[in-house]
Amino acid sequence: MAQASTALSVRSASLRYGTFQALSEVSFEASQGHLVTLLGPSGCGKTTLLKAIAGFIPLDGGTIEIKGQNMQDVPPEKRDTAMCFQSYALFPHLTVADNIGFGLRQRRLGAQDIAARVAAVAEQVGLSSQLAKLPGQLSGGQQQRVALARAMAVRPGVMLFDEPLSNLDAKLRDHVRMEIRALQREHGFTAVYVTHDQAEALAMSDLVIVMRAGVIEQMGRPEDIYRNPANRFVADFIGTANIMPLRILDVDRTQGEYKVSCPLGEAVVRSDTPPVSDHVYACWRPEDAHVTKPTADAQNRFDVKVTTRTFLGSQCDFSVHPLGDATSRYRIQTHGFAPVSEGETIGVVIAPDAIRFLAEAVR
Ligand code: ATP
Repeated sequence: MAQASTALSVRSASLRYGTFQALSEVSFEASQGHLVTLLGPSGCGKTTLLKAIAGFIPLDGGTIEIKGQNMQDVPPEKRDTAMCFQSYALFPHLTVADNIGFGLRQRRLGAQDIAARVAAVAEQVGLSSQLAKLPGQLSGGQQQRVALARAMAVRPGVMLFDEPLSNLDAKLRDHVRMEIRALQREHGFTAVYVTHDQAEALAMSDLVIVMRAGVIEQMGRPEDIYRNPANRFVADFIGTANIMPLRILDVDRTQGEYKVSCPLGEAVVRSDTPPVSDHVYACWRPEDAHVTKPTADAQNRFDVKVTTRTFLGSQCDFSVHPLGDATSRYRIQTHGFAPVSEGETIGVVIAPDAIRFLAEAVR
């Protein structure tokens, strides 16, 4: 199969604000037509990286290439990028049509071309009937779509999104998120999408890049990052993970099976990747635990006490602790209703391959 071509390549990007190191040796590639998310907590450098790609701030080290061209001396307006912000940054005194056409006028397209492109892109984002209005006359979701249309109208090689949905309420956010992904797929544009919302990153991306304090902690496809987080930070940041220290007691290399001791008791872990140490962290996901009777005869059955139970409609969430160890708390999740009460002792079964070693030793 032919390799998708690279639209954006960032190599060893480093950037300081005074003495503060905001980015350190950041490297990744975005394939043509892919949506890449930069995911991480506030202050980890996501926006800084996006601004460096757009050309608003220069790197101190490393390179950025767009479609194979080094961007070092290329000013923002000459880069094949367009940015869509969280604040929308619409011009309040310009109509929706003029806002959408803004980047095209900057690029000195003819009036007819501008009108045609504005009409086409407004149609795509469902704004055709709003073109004569001012931004103040639109809802938040509509304003967000104007900002999206304005960026799309210039047909950039790389679209840059900075938390574009954070001003929308939860329901609208889900809707616009799906719209952006659908438009991105349909038009095949390459996008770098900044978010601190892990669900958004998992739902939208071809590639997720998890950042912390200016460095990349892990990158991969959403399912890989979710199933196989590299360390406690990523496991915790991507969804809810139960993280526990475990000690390797015995190894069966032919089966890739490890007998371990953990706060839940003795367990078997099946892993293709060996642990980095004989005392490591491991994680399992709340939905990987199956509730049974405490006496059930099953491999990796652990008896736990239910401390809280939360009914969430399509699922039930429990906080549990191992018998005799009220300090270790784990979360488990069942589909639908589970007839279990707070204070009850239940058995939970976790399959050997649902417990994953993190590449992080316990020190
Ligand atoms: P958020 O999700 O809150 O927007 P972020 O991951 O996008 O965060 P950045 O805005 O890239 O983070 O900021 C990274 C770090 O650099 C932060 O610690 C921030 O305080 C610092 N920083 C950002 N801009 C400047 C600046 N102009 N001068 C000095 N420090 C800055």
